Amino acid sequence: MNNYCSLCPNACKVDKNLTAGACGTNGKIKIAKYYLHPFEEPVISGKNGSGTVFFCGCSLRCVFCQNYELSRNNLGKEITANQLAEIFKELELSGAHNINLVNPTHYADKIIQALDIYRPNIPIVYNTHGYENIQMLEKLNDYVDVYLPDMKYFSPALSKRYTGKENYFDVASSAIEFMINSKPYLLGDDGLLKNGVIVRHLVLPQCTSDSKKILDWFSKFKEKAFINVMSQYTPFGNIENFPELKRKITQREYDTVIDYCLSLDIKNAYYQEFESANEKYIPAWDF
Ligand code: SF4
Repeated sequence: MNNYCSLCPNACKVDKNLTAGACGTNGKIKIAKYYLHPFEEPVISGKNGSGTVFFCGCSLRCVFCQNYELSRNNLGKEITANQLAEIFKELELSGAHNINLVNPTHYADKIIQALDIYRPNIPIVYNTHGYENIQMLEKLNDYVDVYLPDMKYFSPALSKRYTGKENYFDVASSAIEFMINSKPYLLGDDGLLKNGVIVRHLVLPQCTSDSKKILDWFSKFKEKAFINVMSQYTPFGNIENFPELKRKITQREYDTVIDYCLSLDIKNAYYQEFESANEKYIPAWDF
């Protein structure tokens, strides 16, 4: 019997209590910030903000990550499951509309521990890169009300280039299908999301054809979930060897993807203002 970590599809052959896995984290919880986040989708942030906790490390590690200081460099503060439960309570008392767990995958077991200590009376939002184990999602599903998964890449070559993983689409599409089938979309009387799935897709430079294939895939869920087509790509992270990533997307690229989305009659969609490609949307971290 071994203690190898299997929280995510990387299935590292490590005991996280002894050494860090591919996500860069050991058995301890590390966070970079928690606060009332005003810039999520309107049905998530509402008037007061989303009670967001940013976790350190990452099991996907895209080269262009805008949060690379925490996802790659693992800067942050170690806390216990008890302290995480206290943070949930503090955010709830400060008026948060929900608890928004950003990049939680590699802490799923610890998050369950914290929610067993304190379960807030507001929705729990699981905000993930989408590269998830279905078995872990089955364990989490009773704790989570809203999923905010990314769908980043369709092409295996593209996901391999930016994450080293050829199977991103296969894994993420199965995970998102599970999420959509288990959480019907439900808005409360206050207009905020209580249950459901919003799939996020970030349009990348020179990748409109990949974005179109993702929209083709999403269209079969268009009555059951929302998609947020995001324009906010900003050059960041470890992109020295990726010349195509050293610019923002163009208005033409974004319009091409939006027009395609409209042509598929996907009405449950969010679009972003073009000026969203701006560093001001990246929070100041509490290192
Ligand atoms: S959570 Fe981290 S250690 Fe565990 S399988 Fe995933 S990458 Fe490896």
